[in-house]
Amino acid sequence: MVAKNLEEVRAHITEACIAAGRDKEEVTLVAVSKTKPVEMLQEAYQAGQRIFGENKVQEIMDKYEVMPKDVQWHMIGHLQRNKVKYIVDKVAMIHSVDSLRLAQAIQQEAEKKKVVVPVLIEVNVAKEESKFGFSVEEVFPALEEMSTYPNLHVQGLMTIAPFVENGEDNREIFRKLKKLSVDIEKKNINNITMSVLSMGMSGDYQVAVQEGATMVRVGTGIFGERNYAIR
Ligand SMILES: *Cc1c(COP(=O)(O)O)cnc(C)c1O
Repeated sequence: MVAKNLEEVRAHITEACIAAGRDKEEVTLVAVSKTKPVEMLQEAYQAGQRIFGENKVQEIMDKYEVMPKDVQWHMIGHLQRNKVKYIVDKVAMIHSVDSLRLAQAIQQEAEKKKVVVPVLIEVNVAKEESKFGFSVEEVFPALEEMSTYPNLHVQGLMTIAPFVENGEDNREIFRKLKKLSVDIEKKNINNITMSVLSMGMSGDYQVAVQEGATMVRVGTGIFGERNYAIR
């Protein structure tokens, strides 16, 4: 089931790339495996998937222990500062840098562990009350500060678009994030690159790819609905 779903999602990404005149190699699929049992991750691994997204520190630590070492773990959920130390040397990327204080904590822990951590800045483009992330206006000053952190490498932006029935409804949000990343790139800020645009989930990743996503985060479309009640 997982292998078949993965194949389908990859095919949809390819289609969206063709429609947008993009090369499919430009888009990386993050398989969002939060709440899912290791057996399902292994199925995805067997089908060639190496990048997994999780939103809980404890879950990353547990799965890190049992999955093969060539898996790349992406932290995509809100990260508490006091938990940074547990994962800073285990994750390939943190998508969810949503405050300067968190960026500082990552810098401190990364320095202790002598690693440089690739991160994305989470932007609350849709201005949803319930969501974390910088407002569009806050991003520039935050980046100037982060550009001085040697153990933090900002590689791009991430957004979580609203939940919608029709992915088309999020097109404008994806456009805004893309535009912001282009504007930032033009400023040539030291130690800041804008090569990654993490946007698009199960309901809207094709639209996100058409609008320039270089990373899509797909959970339900690969692993099926999540049941939080039985956790
Ligand atoms: C859960 C989650 C996803 C995946 O959502 P689906 O709709 O299941 O594809 C993507 N990004 C983030 C930040 C998430 O928390």
